[in-house]
Amino acid sequence: MKKFIGCDLGGTNLRAAVVDVENGDVLHLMSIPTLAREGHDTVMDRMADLFLDVIKAAGMKKKDIGGIGIGVPGVLDLEKGETLFLPNLPGTWPHVPLQDTITRLTGLPTALLNDVRSITNGEWRFGAGRGVDTIAVFAVGTGIGGGLVVNGQLHLGIGGTGGELGHTMIDFNGPRCGCGNNGCLEAYASGPAISAMGMKAVSQGLTTKIANLCEYDLNRITPELIAEAAETGDEVAEEIYEKAGYYIGIAAANICASIGPRRIIIAGGVAQAGKLLLAPIRRTLKERVHIMPVEQVEVVSSKLGDNAGVIGVSCWAAS
Ligand SMILES: [Zn+2]
Repeated sequence: MKKFIGCDLGGTNLRAAVVDVENGDVLHLMSIPTLAREGHDTVMDRMADLFLDVIKAAGMKKKDIGGIGIGVPGVLDLEKGETLFLPNLPGTWPHVPLQDTITRLTGLPTALLNDVRSITNGEWRFGAGRGVDTIAVFAVGTGIGGGLVVNGQLHLGIGGTGGELGHTMIDFNGPRCGCGNNGCLEAYASGPAISAMGMKAVSQGLTTKIANLCEYDLNRITPELIAEAAETGDEVAEEIYEKAGYYIGIAAANICASIGPRRIIIAGGVAQAGKLLLAPIRRTLKERVHIMPVEQVEVVSSKLGDNAGVIGVSCWAAS
């Protein structure tokens, strides 16, 4: 069977891999700077060149490749193959015909998918979601992305916009979210929201190792630094992860009631905190879900790491 290319269009780097979609093996991976400031036409030219380069570097020819999948960080119109709003890229790419342009430049069929739906598809096919038919993924990083697989199918909704779990509301009077709404999960438990809790604790003068680790420089506080403090038993740091996990747990409880997932997968940079984040999510589900058999819902960390997206979106292109 032909191999497929999976691409991760990031704000900093463009990553492209030749993937064996039958077993999820990444055969060859290349990464170049996105140079997003140079505009979408330059970025699309660079992408097309990268795809042709990675085919060559993998020792293959264009005829060995069945197609290209591109994981895109933002809102898409899958029916038209256009980008609608990419908040992390300059110019935000309104109505850019990404799918047709890459097809024209490479001569290969191209498919688009949101970046976290790509991760969801990868984890479902070959990672932490393998073997079950209904999962929810929370990708906790700079924002909170999401994705759903329901009854053995990646859930898309209108133009592929379904599955934005970071923008489910956990307090309708809550703080403003980047999307323009109030009280979204992302405003409470994303990486920046966790860092902000650490900054508040230090500036309030609470006794915490976070202050020592950041050497009283608030700009150095990150979710990783707070996790490091929590690992040594620092109560303030532990409490911050308790809160973040509680908030994600509330959103996850709503998802349990909606789709009855077999597994909830926590991905993204903040998921590196592991048990610090997973334990309060599990506890919140147990306390707050009574309408379905929540003891059968597993809460686990993602398995494929940085390759989940390129694996997932190459499988998407092949499907
Ligand atoms: Zn939002």
